Amino acid sequence: MTRRTLIAGNWKMNTRRQAATELARGVVDGLSESSQVEVVLCPPAVYLGAVAECVVGTPVGLGGQNLYAEADGAFTGEVNAGMLTDIGCGYVILGHSERRQLMGETDADVSKKLHAALAGNLVPIVCVGETQEQRENGETEQVVSDQLKGSLAGLDEARAAGIVIAYEPVWAIGTGLTASPEQAEAVHAFIRQLLSDDFGEDVAGQIRLQYGGSVKPGNAAELLSQKNIDGALVGGASLKAEDFLGIIAAG
Ligand code: PEP
Repeated sequence: MTRRTLIAGNWKMNTRRQAATELARGVVDGLSESSQVEVVLCPPAVYLGAVAECVVGTPVGLGGQNLYAEADGAFTGEVNAGMLTDIGCGYVILGHSERRQLMGETDADVSKKLHAALAGNLVPIVCVGETQEQRENGETEQVVSDQLKGSLAGLDEARAAGIVIAYEPVWAIGTGLTASPEQAEAVHAFIRQLLSDDFGEDVAGQIRLQYGGSVKPGNAAELLSQKNIDGALVGGASLKAEDFLGIIAAG
């Protein structure tokens, strides 16, 4: 089963309009024509339109960092799937650990968002991962398994193949600590097995699994060469075109 490598840049709450468009243009202009890697930029919601203008007609895709799982209505401050697709998004990050920790997002919330994303023709990138304490207590597999089951609740085989899972150990996000390729591969293989148990081997073999957590140009090649690592979700290093392009080149 060949899975196309997917490198997504999660800009989080960074940039201003000019910095966002310069960064997007830097990625578009620096992308090698022969690159087989799928590239997605996830800017802050307010800059999606400006970044869309930079990437439209190029191989670079666009993604949201979150969505609200309801149709249009009285939900002040929220953005739904229809709005994301309307502005040009093909992807949306869901259940990022920062949203789980800071905004109290639960697996049930993520599951609702997942179904809204799929109904809106967005590819969901569903994030799971354990904290340092959970890893030290030997709970990594249990935590990842619970998050995965809760977040994918109600998902059927037909739609499962099109989703993306990002394994992002919380202790490696923005800390400079990276899971070793062996540590990351072990959890990715575990996730693939869980998906196989739920959706069958064929579907599980089609689902792309990204690693996220301090991915940089210097460690990307080894991580991306692992059997079950099909891409990266990149935070800090996606804010500099040169670094992000270095990660893409390693894919
Ligand atoms: C992330 O937030 O998704 C992430 C992986 O961040 P960083 O690359 O900065 O660790």
